[in-house]
Amino acid sequence: MKSNILKIGSGKISEIESTLRAADISGKILYISDPYVDSLYGASVRPQIEAVGKIKEQSVDYNTIAYSMEVAERVIATDIDCIVAMGGGKTLDVGKYAAFVSKRPFLSIPTTMAHDGIVSPIAVLKRQDEKPKSLGCAMPSMIILDTKLMATCPKHLIKAGIGDTISNYMALKDWDFAVSHGKDEMNGYAYMMSRTSLDALMKTQFDHICPEFIDVLANSLVLSGIAMDFAGSSRPVSGSEHLFSHALDYYCEKQNLHGFNVALGTIAVLKIIGDDPTEVIDYLKKFEVDVNPEHMGISEDSFVYCMQHATEMRNNRYTYLHEADLDSDKLKNVYKELVEEL
Ligand SMILES: [Zn+2]
Repeated sequence: MKSNILKIGSGKISEIESTLRAADISGKILYISDPYVDSLYGASVRPQIEAVGKIKEQSVDYNTIAYSMEVAERVIATDIDCIVAMGGGKTLDVGKYAAFVSKRPFLSIPTTMAHDGIVSPIAVLKRQDEKPKSLGCAMPSMIILDTKLMATCPKHLIKAGIGDTISNYMALKDWDFAVSHGKDEMNGYAYMMSRTSLDALMKTQFDHICPEFIDVLANSLVLSGIAMDFAGSSRPVSGSEHLFSHALDYYCEKQNLHGFNVALGTIAVLKIIGDDPTEVIDYLKKFEVDVNPEHMGISEDSFVYCMQHATEMRNNRYTYLHEADLDSDKLKNVYKELVEEL
């Protein structure tokens, strides 16, 4: 079985059949999607799968660890040879983890670009108590990113994807900080890929969301995913801003898209450590990515609490927040500035 097949570009959804053939896939193929995505693209996907094997179907109802294990059990118990998942992060992560557990090849076809998890070796699934859990698995062995199709996803999801990529800015700073304090090791290749992902987006010649910009964002998201794969962890793309986002997911009643949380976290932490966030703020404003905490429904109390408890969200992720002054009054001031400036 061949792997590491990556196709990016407009109209690539028509290359599902040739991709599966190139990877020597045959036999039973489990097609995973949700009813909405299937109603849009199923008619194009099904015949291509049927051309190379026997199609089996699974409509994703939940994105829990237990549900993904159920899918893996179905794959193992009924001798399914390959999993094809099409949809947003939830569907892809169920498929990705099921493929990892069942040790089957996995074709991932994202229909949104809301975060860099669409192409990564990590699946985020819910525990029994509904809290999200990041699970290390493997990169999809085959990926098709149809940029024309992804461009039709709601604008706010594209903006969230911008936010998640921009968070590499803080993540790389945190990585440097951790290495210089003897708390982590550097992986130069992974660092460079995350940096390139960020630079491609920040230095783009486009100043609004257009098809050409979608191509840039898709490439950046893939580069971030490969950076994670190279590092063997999310370290290159996930620092203090992600810890803050995890705390918001955990403690804040109002749930926002991951990409907005981490972009807000990036600007907030830059302010906390006394760095100038202007470059990041200007960029987000150019693309109308609104991360004003008030607009996001994050209260001052929630902001302060989540920032003060961010470092508890995971072990082995040393960041600036581990040494920063997180005094409540100081954080309240940062919150006020964010509300005024964003
Ligand atoms: Zn992220």
